[in-house]
Amino acid sequence: MAVEELQALERAHVVPAYARQPVQFVRGAGARLWDADGAEYLDFQTGLAVTSLGHSHPAVATAIQEQVARLLHVGNLFYTEPGMQLAKRLSECSLGGKVHYANSGTEANEAALKVARKAKPAGTVVSVRRGFHGRTYGSLSATPQESKQAPFAPLVPGFHSVEATAEALAGAVDERTAAVLLEPVQGESGVWVLDDELLRAARAACDEHGAALIFDEVQCGLGRTGTLWAYEDSGVVPDLMTSAKALGNGLPIGALICSPRYADVLEPGDHGSTFAGGPVACAAALAVLDVISDPQLLARVRALGARLAEGLAALPGVVEVRGRGLMLACDFADGRAPELVRRALLEQRLVVNATGPATLRLLPPLTIGPADVDEALQRLRALL
Ligand SMILES: *Cc1c(COP(=O)(O)O)cnc(C)c1O
Repeated sequence: MAVEELQALERAHVVPAYARQPVQFVRGAGARLWDADGAEYLDFQTGLAVTSLGHSHPAVATAIQEQVARLLHVGNLFYTEPGMQLAKRLSECSLGGKVHYANSGTEANEAALKVARKAKPAGTVVSVRRGFHGRTYGSLSATPQESKQAPFAPLVPGFHSVEATAEALAGAVDERTAAVLLEPVQGESGVWVLDDELLRAARAACDEHGAALIFDEVQCGLGRTGTLWAYEDSGVVPDLMTSAKALGNGLPIGALICSPRYADVLEPGDHGSTFAGGPVACAAALAVLDVISDPQLLARVRALGARLAEGLAALPGVVEVRGRGLMLACDFADGRAPELVRRALLEQRLVVNATGPATLRLLPPLTIGPADVDEALQRLRALL
């Protein structure tokens, strides 16, 4: 079908909740995508930090194909091996403790919030400005963005947000606080790295008042910033951590990782999901972890991130570059980012994303090479 026909179907039959670009992708390999006319694109968006190993990664494709041919779904009333194995892998490479599965980032955060509230009944949840935690009611209530919250009021009670500073956070946590929820690197609002002082203040306040420190690593985790988990860079270890986006390299899966102290808060019947922890998504995630935990890959993410950041800073019109590893944003002095995204796609066949009027976000596959970085920069330079 031509893209015009898809647009006609969308207009007639699809709830207009997304603003789509007029491109239909039909195939992908590594950092490349192809549209229905056979034109090749360079993907520096990865479906928003999802296909971190690139498209059609052979290890992921094989893991999915083998598992889907054997068994697709039985539900959580029985055992399947991939989910148990993945839980061991995820907990051993992060907080120890235990894992609870979800199907998405927002659901992983809902599970984290439920664990924190059950551990401290009726406790409040503190989040910070520019945070994004998802679109379901609990996660949305912790996402202090007027445009996302206002149409859906009233939200869940007991949530409040403060400025992203150590002082504001320390002042907001008290004996009623059940949880502090933070992204170590805030993605959706434009790649803001929370400083170590803030993370340490959050840790100290949670320790003092018996609250759970929750890190939302849905976007910044899994190698994106050049360490397996973003929190490793700060040395501040959370009590609960959520993962999703890149975990299945495109298959929907989310996970809540609980430190030993919170590992047994949920009991049978407390929380659940029909699809979560299914063998196909977990088989994909096991393959992803195999590739992403490689220290050489992580070192390359740091090196290529530095190369990309340096190149972005040298582009005409760029006033600031932010981020860590291959999770980067660059700001312009004016509101040209959405138009740049459109032109990059249609004129330069470079897939990037805007997080706001002045901000481009770059989230390339973690498997790219220096030539891909240079090519993306050259395409942006041609536009600017
Ligand atoms: C994308 C994102 C979410 C929500 O994930 P979904 O899978 O879209 O529900 C939550 N937190 C962060 C930090 C995200 O980037």
